[in-house]
Amino acid sequence: MAGTADAIIIGTGVIGTAVALELARKGWKTLSLERNGQIGHGSTASSCAIIRMHYSTFEGSAMAWEGWHYWRSWADFLGLPAAAPLARFRKTGCLVMKTPANGGLAKHMEISAALGCPFEEWGAEEILARLPIYTLESYAPPRRLDDPAFGQPNGGQLEGAVFWPDAGYVNDPALAAQNLAEAARALGAAFRTRSEVVAILRQGGRAAGVRLASGEEIHAPVVINVAGPASARVNAMAGVLDDMTIRTRPLRQEVVHLPAPQGFDFESRGTIVSDSDIGCYCRPERGNHILIGSEDPPCDPHQWVEDDTDFNRDFTEQWTTQAMRYAQRVPTLGIPSRMRGVVDLYDASTDWIPIYDKSQLPGFYMACGTSGNQFKNAPVAGKMMAALVEHCENGADHDERPLRFTLEHIGQEIDAGFFSRRRPVNEESSFSVLG
Ligand SMILES: Cc1cc2nc3c(=O)[nH]c(=O)nc-3n(C[C@H](O)[C@H](O)[C@H](O)COP(=O)(O)OP(=O)(O)OC[C@H]3O[C@@H](n4cnc5c(N)ncnc54)[C@H](O)[C@@H]3O)c2cc1C
Repeated sequence: MAGTADAIIIGTGVIGTAVALELARKGWKTLSLERNGQIGHGSTASSCAIIRMHYSTFEGSAMAWEGWHYWRSWADFLGLPAAAPLARFRKTGCLVMKTPANGGLAKHMEISAALGCPFEEWGAEEILARLPIYTLESYAPPRRLDDPAFGQPNGGQLEGAVFWPDAGYVNDPALAAQNLAEAARALGAAFRTRSEVVAILRQGGRAAGVRLASGEEIHAPVVINVAGPASARVNAMAGVLDDMTIRTRPLRQEVVHLPAPQGFDFESRGTIVSDSDIGCYCRPERGNHILIGSEDPPCDPHQWVEDDTDFNRDFTEQWTTQAMRYAQRVPTLGIPSRMRGVVDLYDASTDWIPIYDKSQLPGFYMACGTSGNQFKNAPVAGKMMAALVEHCENGADHDERPLRFTLEHIGQEIDAGFFSRRRPVNEESSFSVLG
């Protein structure tokens, strides 16, 4: 049996549902297909959902600062009935340690100043007033546990940090995707779970729909790959890898959850911290816990995964390494024997900057390569993808004359070609989750 839609969206993570919402707002009849049983239960559900504004590039920072405006007024953005359970943005601020590895954050401050995004420079005294459980001894470079120099201070001190006061995190990332889907449904968008796409149909030299694992074919002139860590597989199904200079690949990550040291209420007094001196970031977590992620220091081997549906979901030595790295900064930290946290995949791109683009197959688009740092940008990515699809379907050649996209809250225009699949590797990138 063959159904039809104006556009099929593969994947219902936070970005897939945002794309569905924005196309529905433009009057498209969309059908979102999800292989899981629930919406928002891909890598979105495992996200730390940190909403920060500092990236290594102007475009990355502009998009994140624009994105913040949607999270802080989530209910208004969605326009759902007041009774609907909504994900919540919790403002904590984000403190980033100045280190030689990030050039003392000079570039980041320059970009934030140009964008009118508030930040403050903090010295040691202010850092310790906010985080009295911290020590500011330097341990750089980050090391593996079997390195004899692990845990030995290098004799230096962290001298300061930059604090972005408006940053925070979203308490329930899966619910955020479900909220977007609900808002899209209210405009007529359709969603089907337990519907795995196994082939992209072609007709007359363009995309013509998809085939599901059940054998069912669904026809549509536009198909959008928002399959998260499965994006490379879906791009291969469409046969569009040839002209891509930027590739995507699933990368395994472990996130550690630890109780805060006794006597310190990290949940309400803590903040997000990015600390390249020890190669970790952290944020407050429910139950006075601290969530600790990796900033992918060069000493850690990349844990590439061949099959995004079949990988080791158990904690490994990486969990202990991250916990012990953070204990360098917080000497009173207790590390329980029971490991808690999250194991999941990033969809890492060659330069850790996402791809929001068309492809060489007319009608086939991609929003992928989100590299562990695009939850925050989902509402903006949804709008930009919807504009890009209309731009191309109206006959524009986005490769030759890329879409100019307006970030309406911050009054900036960006070149959407920045996110092209055919860009040269962006050497400005941090080549890490920091983007
Ligand atoms: C551990 C971790 C921590 C993170 N922390 C942050 C953070 O603090 N801040 C931040 O901004 N970002 C963060 N991210 C990144 C962010 O979560 C992702 O960029 C974002 O969730 C990607 O959303 P998505 O919709 O593109 O993909 P996903 O959420 O992965 O959704 C893709 C969906 O596609 C479905 N799918 C795949 N193949 C098929 C198919 N063939 N047919 C049908 N359906 C299919 C999958 O089942 C899945 O539901 C983190 C990511 C991880 C893993």
